[in-house]
Amino acid sequence: MIKQYVFSFTEGDGKNKKLLGGKGANLCEMTQIGLNVPPGFVISTEACLSYLDSAKDELQAGLMNEVRDQMALLEKQTGKKFGEPDNPLLVSVRSGSALSMPGMMDTILNLGLNMSTLQGLIKQTSNERFGYDAYRRFIQLFGKVALGVPDEKFDEVFDAIKAREGIAADVGLTATHLKEISERFLGVVHEHTGKPFPEDVYDQLNVAIRAVFRSWGGKRAVDYRREFNITPEMANGTAVNIVTMVFGNMGDDSATGVGFTRNPGTGENTMYGEYLVNAQGEDVVAGIRTPKPVQEMTNEMPALYEQLVELRNKLEAHYHEVQDYEYTIEKGILYCLQTRNGKMNAQALVRTSVEMVGEDLITREQALLRVDPEVLEQLLHPRLDPEHNSQAVAQGLPASPGAASGKVVFDADRAELLGRTGEQVILLREETKPEDIHGFFASQGILTSRGGKTSHAAVVARGMGKPCVAGAEGIEVDTRKRQARVSNVLLHEGDTITIDGGNGKVYLGEIPTIPPEFSQELKTLLQWADEVARLKVMTNVDTPEAAARAVDYGAMGIGLCRTERMFNAQDRLPIVVDMILANTLAERQEALERLLPIQRADFKALFQVMAPRPVTIRLLDPPIHEFLPSERQLEAELERLKQLRNTVEGVGDLMGAMQLLAEGAAQPITPPMPFNENGVELIDQAIAKKELMLLKVRELFEVNPMLGHRGVRLGITYPEIYAMQIRAVLQAAAECAEEGLTIHPEIMVPQVCTAEELLRVREVVLETQHALEQEHGIKLDYKFGTMIEVVRACMRAGKLAEVAEFFSFGTNDLTQSTFSFSREDAENKFLPFYNENRILQDNPFEVLDVKGVGELMHLAVEWGRQTRPDLKVGICGEQGGHPASIRFCHDANLTYVSCSPPRVPIARLAAGQASLMSPSRVIIANLKEQEELEVIV
Ligand code: ADP
Ligand code: MG
Ligand code: MG
Repeated sequence: MIKQYVFSFTEGDGKNKKLLGGKGANLCEMTQIGLNVPPGFVISTEACLSYLDSAKDELQAGLMNEVRDQMALLEKQTGKKFGEPDNPLLVSVRSGSALSMPGMMDTILNLGLNMSTLQGLIKQTSNERFGYDAYRRFIQLFGKVALGVPDEKFDEVFDAIKAREGIAADVGLTATHLKEISERFLGVVHEHTGKPFPEDVYDQLNVAIRAVFRSWGGKRAVDYRREFNITPEMANGTAVNIVTMVFGNMGDDSATGVGFTRNPGTGENTMYGEYLVNAQGEDVVAGIRTPKPVQEMTNEMPALYEQLVELRNKLEAHYHEVQDYEYTIEKGILYCLQTRNGKMNAQALVRTSVEMVGEDLITREQALLRVDPEVLEQLLHPRLDPEHNSQAVAQGLPASPGAASGKVVFDADRAELLGRTGEQVILLREETKPEDIHGFFASQGILTSRGGKTSHAAVVARGMGKPCVAGAEGIEVDTRKRQARVSNVLLHEGDTITIDGGNGKVYLGEIPTIPPEFSQELKTLLQWADEVARLKVMTNVDTPEAAARAVDYGAMGIGLCRTERMFNAQDRLPIVVDMILANTLAERQEALERLLPIQRADFKALFQVMAPRPVTIRLLDPPIHEFLPSERQLEAELERLKQLRNTVEGVGDLMGAMQLLAEGAAQPITPPMPFNENGVELIDQAIAKKELMLLKVRELFEVNPMLGHRGVRLGITYPEIYAMQIRAVLQAAAECAEEGLTIHPEIMVPQVCTAEELLRVREVVLETQHALEQEHGIKLDYKFGTMIEVVRACMRAGKLAEVAEFFSFGTNDLTQSTFSFSREDAENKFLPFYNENRILQDNPFEVLDVKGVGELMHLAVEWGRQTRPDLKVGICGEQGGHPASIRFCHDANLTYVSCSPPRVPIARLAAGQASLMSPSRVIIANLKEQEELEVIV
């Protein structure tokens, strides 16, 4: 059987987008469900591929015959004739692949016009202007798309005639002008191609079809597919849609418009869109005339508005999805020309998801799967007012979400200076460095012209939760002159700009922003997600404020509280320093005694906010030298202190001399503090302390501190530190229990590599527990567990699980130790190169490395649960908030993921989706059976 390449809209399979392209499939589908689509047919993507494969620039045998048959059908359906002056049939030739690739391929309108059909059209419509307008559009589009004549050649002619006639807008052109333009356009084509413009309409069609096919292999389209990772499995070849022309520019009973079935900015269930009376499709997009909001049609064409509402309802009822559609009204008759799934912002996606469930258009499962978890991030930061219609002037990478406006400044010092006076500023630099940090604090947002998503600017801005656009290469920064060039505009310090860190766009001037909101719809959607999810979502926080925010976002507990962050606070650091400087156990114990009540209060506050949810507290992890200033800083401080001492002594001497000179003065001159012995003594004390610190810093120096004296190693060599923390946790727990709060503390040990380490720490825990239980006469309910962040810990998971009641994968460290990459060095030096050159596909510190780190996790989970079937297993690395990693964690049968508060909503949705998408529901069932079997045996 000969393969069928051409399908009428009445017969094509509307589900087969791969074969017919998205546009073609939907045109078929709409025709078949009875919507008013102009008659037409689709030439399949297979025809495109076979044409592109063959060496000859010819359509395959038989294809043109199929096309002629279809054209004959169109003639029958419309009563018009292709290429005949009497009632001529005109068509559009439209591209359309399986995936929409906006602006990548072209469409030709009004094909079938030539000298004689043009005259027929004019006679038929008694409208010379209309005829020549259609003609000149056709010559230009066909010339450009099918014959490769540069657009400018036509524009030059067009603009010259407008200028000569003193006409500003296209509507001002008369039939005579358009006739002249058409004739000159024919000349342009002849000149450029060396051949006259094709008169034969089937020649026109043949050339046009081939041109659309070829556009699939054009540079623009190829680059686009590479950029967006569109593989042949997703879209291969373009279909060609031949559609009977309908005209929205046939008078005041004609119009053209585009619509969304719901508001794509807010999700509101209302008619949304714009239209133009007496205009052709492209006019709406081209911005030549300002279109009107569709609501105005209720006055201008009330009957047609009703029809449009009906069209909209039918589209949604059929597609069960918000649609983005194009239509044209010709002499009072409404035609639908295109429909596709609408692209919406996060708010609209969430709202429509929930409302469409309420309207029985989709199921809860569909609603959950419809929203990409990452887009929720947009909802947790200020964002640009969706109604704004400014054009971006530059595009960079969306490096840290949120939108901000402010006066542009070119260095951190100026940012700080202006920021202090209360100005909103945006720091614009080529790249940022650690010494720019004070500028970050003072700025609303950061913009760089170089660097990627892991550049300094991006990482720091994300850490601070400030919007950042990085690598906006279209911007030329001249820091010395304090100016920057952005697409022909010169920006000076103080000019206002707006950045959108959610999509990487940069705008001139101020665009209003709207604050983040946790809408009722979002709450509902996430609740549905929680209901289907198997993974729990916990959060990484260490203050009660952050904990409260995380609970608002739906966190089900704290998966990681980093106690070292508590040590860093202003009021504790001096005590911590004393503890580190202590020379004897007694001195250290004394400092720890002072820390104990502070830590206890910290933990209690966290328990109170989180009750009854679990709170996982990690014992001290970093090497203790991190609490001391650096050697360089201390040396500089000492230098200054010694200078100060000289100055103070000098002033004292000066005072003495003045006393001598003023001999006989009534009042003796006594130098005030600090210019006396007391002052000198004070400075000496400071010097002594700093010298001690310097000594300690040198003593604690490690070549490789991340692999050095830290984590449980520290806890075992200085057991009194962990003992204090354990006491603080359990005392706080006891106090809460006495107050009637139900709490679930979990004590977690970092950097463990052998069960012996855990046993030693557990001994302290047990002793403390027994003492407290005696003292308070209560039973303490808590869990004891370990981080898994060392490769050996994975290998010994079975043994560790004898002691640990839970595991928490610290995938930041586990990734470092699996790759033997230190994160900072990797991200700053070679990782970007590795990613660009596809040696590694992703940054493993952002996207969990399933193949390496993930395998280790699988082993650890399996061996751990062999020892302890109810072992609780979580992940608390940064990747725990990444949807792809969450999917992995679900499949790896983890109990929970833990992430920073703003990632909690994303993780909840991702966890729900993981359950819906994953075959592991079945696997879990099997696993349970196996476990039971083992128990029986
Ligand atoms: P794109 O994929 O760029 O949207 P289209 O193929 O949809 O390109 O066509 C571009 C414009 O021409 C749209 O406004 C569309 O509505 C209009 N158009 C396409 N075919 C016809 C037709 N047969 N009659 C009237 N307008 C048409
Ligand atoms: Mg279109
Ligand atoms: Mg760690």
